[in-house]
Amino acid sequence: MAAKRKLSEMAPEVEEPVDPTDELMFLCLGGGNEVGRSCHIIQYKGKTIMLDAGQHPAYDGLAALPYFDEFDLSTVDVLLISHFHLDHASALPYVLAKTNFRGRVFMTHPTKAIYKWLIQDSVRVQSLSSSSDQRTTLYTEAEHLSTFSQIEAIDYHTTHTVSSIRFTPYPAGHVLGAAMFLVEIAGLKILFTGDYSREDDRHLISAEVPKGIKIDVLITESTYGISSHIPRAERETALIKSITGILNRGGRVLMPVFALGRAQELLLILDDYWARHSEYQRIPIYYASNLARKCMVVYQTYVSAMNDNIKRLFRERMAEAEEAGNVDKGGPWDFRFIRSLKNLERFDDVGGCVVLASPGMLQSGVSRELLERWAPNDRNGVVITGYSVEGTMAKQIMNEPDSIPAIMGSRSTAGIGRRGPGVDGEVERPMIPRRCSVQEYSFAAHVDGQENQGFIEEIAAPVVILVHGEKHNMMRLKSKLLSLNNDKTAKTKIFSPANTEELRIPFTVEKTAKVVGQLAQIPPSKSSDPDDERLITGVLVQNDFKMSLMAPEDLREYAGLTTTTIMCKQNLTLSAAGLDLVKWALEGTFGAIEEIGAKSKPTSNGTTEFNGNGVSHDEEMADEEVGRSPDQTAFLIMGCVIVRYQGNGHVIVEWEGNTLNDGIADAVLAVLFTVESSPAAVKQSSRGHQHTHHREERNPHSNVSRDERFSRLCMFLEAQFGPLITPITHPKLPPKPPKSAVDADGIKDEPEEKEYDPEEAEQTLADLEAEEMERLHSIGIPVPGVEIKVDKNVAKVWLETLEVECASNVLRERVKAVVERAVETVAPLWGQRS
Ligand SMILES: [Zn+2]
Ligand SMILES: [Zn+2]
Repeated sequence: MAAKRKLSEMAPEVEEPVDPTDELMFLCLGGGNEVGRSCHIIQYKGKTIMLDAGQHPAYDGLAALPYFDEFDLSTVDVLLISHFHLDHASALPYVLAKTNFRGRVFMTHPTKAIYKWLIQDSVRVQSLSSSSDQRTTLYTEAEHLSTFSQIEAIDYHTTHTVSSIRFTPYPAGHVLGAAMFLVEIAGLKILFTGDYSREDDRHLISAEVPKGIKIDVLITESTYGISSHIPRAERETALIKSITGILNRGGRVLMPVFALGRAQELLLILDDYWARHSEYQRIPIYYASNLARKCMVVYQTYVSAMNDNIKRLFRERMAEAEEAGNVDKGGPWDFRFIRSLKNLERFDDVGGCVVLASPGMLQSGVSRELLERWAPNDRNGVVITGYSVEGTMAKQIMNEPDSIPAIMGSRSTAGIGRRGPGVDGEVERPMIPRRCSVQEYSFAAHVDGQENQGFIEEIAAPVVILVHGEKHNMMRLKSKLLSLNNDKTAKTKIFSPANTEELRIPFTVEKTAKVVGQLAQIPPSKSSDPDDERLITGVLVQNDFKMSLMAPEDLREYAGLTTTTIMCKQNLTLSAAGLDLVKWALEGTFGAIEEIGAKSKPTSNGTTEFNGNGVSHDEEMADEEVGRSPDQTAFLIMGCVIVRYQGNGHVIVEWEGNTLNDGIADAVLAVLFTVESSPAAVKQSSRGHQHTHHREERNPHSNVSRDERFSRLCMFLEAQFGPLITPITHPKLPPKPPKSAVDADGIKDEPEEKEYDPEEAEQTLADLEAEEMERLHSIGIPVPGVEIKVDKNVAKVWLETLEVECASNVLRERVKAVVERAVETVAPLWGQRS
């Protein structure tokens, strides 16, 4: 039983033991202090979410995977894929086909559409790759296609709930379909940015800050650390200047790109420039990607998910196409100056040209082949536009090395031996001189330092976790963010975990329980005074993270639960004490006791307040032998414990088990054992049984003295609150000297008046106390009150008024309830004269 529990939102700075269920666990299986193989685990309140499943572009085979061995993937409830890039999505077929993962997978519709082609293409490229025999094949095309149907596609701004985990994708910029995920577990809100961008793009809408949502944890990429991009317009100008510069000197331009995503943005830039500059229109721009050609239909389909620029372009082009009577053509992705290149065999490499080719990291494939072919000529140039991952050729070549290893062995690099995989894998690689120019203009569509910092400040989450960044970039951003803490009262916690380094962040969210059923009909207290707060008692039912407070009677209707009542029964044989003595002793302790029919049961209906839920036990009871014999007598004690006296000294004590009744039953048993060993017992038992006159032979103490009542009250309180119950010796005095104090019932008049004199305060106090004690004794109250100690709390009960004083509201209400019940059921106290 509990009421609403309030906790501060963040664990305090003071080291206090943290309930492990209040900890958020975060684990990077990949993408920790690195760019590549993004994969993060979040665990909170027993729920597990996996974010992304990528491969590292600089490694091959199993080494390219996230550290899946470090976590039991079978425990993952939901896997969310932020976007289709291989460093975020290409380990997914492996997860689905080769691990014990059993959760559900979600990504946006465009991501799913492109993912299908992209993975298929990468599996084929891998199997064709010259070093394929050295690789461990992570999954086959068949495995990719057979697991594809397990992926569920969702739309931006739609909220989904799986196993009580709520998540919503928001546009992230970056590439078509890229999503930020807002994840909510038990009220804790986590925003994962994935890769994101916020600048004005030619086709994508930029990442948005979820509106009106207080984020608790932000997991953000940190690819560019604190470095800043030059403004977009300047960057476009510089890119065009670099490309035209190479063309003007008679060279060829190689732009290594990832087949999908940013390549489409570059094509829009180039096509637009060519359209406006007829002098370049004789120079071909090739896009060497069959994959991109296949995926163009996806780009055309999702024009509506792109920005206003592309929608305007779409309308213009469609109108032009219609005018020309060419309805099959048109749309922004129907480029006018871009030619697609199916393969290099068909490529007539005769002069100046621009070629966009994948892969973006120059690891192998068409882009690598062209690099090896063109690198020795100083008129040619490589223009890098993406983010170059550590350990790849794209990264190496930016340092402008004198030579690069030749791995493709194409006809165009005749005379240079093909790299053959030796038995031991160690082969001398032939080198090619590099004389071509290398320039970099970032169109990677990741936020720069300023944009990221702005976004982090805007989200204002108390906890920020940095991922997807090389260590030094990440550390610079981390110190920058930490330095912003100087001006803040609530310091932001910044984490930058390495792979497999587990974070545990204490995080408790305010727990709220909905009051339902009959309890909801009790109006809440209107006053804001905490002393006036109403205490509601019921059963707290937790269903996942939803808590409801209800009366036990409502459990079946509101929680679909059935309740059970435990009936307790104690058999004992009293060889000495007879029925009369038993009754006499019970009356002596509990006051007048009720004699009931021998077949009665201790029920929860009507006769007693100490109830469970009223489930009938007729069937169970029917088999029992209780109450068959006519010479049985039964007493109901305090409305909850039945003592059945059956012939031959056989006594059965029965009660419905609960803390209150158990205490009373203990007291009843104690009385029975005491009476059995008392000297009177022998005498009584020798007289045999009396069935007829026991009503007249009432225990004279059933109308007990006030002292006796007091001791019963103490016994009752002890049963509830433990043994630390002491009488209060000093009476409670009214705040001012009483002029005409009136007792609780308003019946009794006050002794004579007294003048209050501060100089004789002490003496007066003693006098007043003595006077008050006298008054209390005169109305039969032995001591002014009792003090009850429970743990660190102390409650005072003033016997005359039954007023309870206690700093703890909860204890006060409990004591009050018990005292009231005691007065109702144990014996009337002094308020009622006997
Ligand atoms: Zn990306
Ligand atoms: Zn990435």
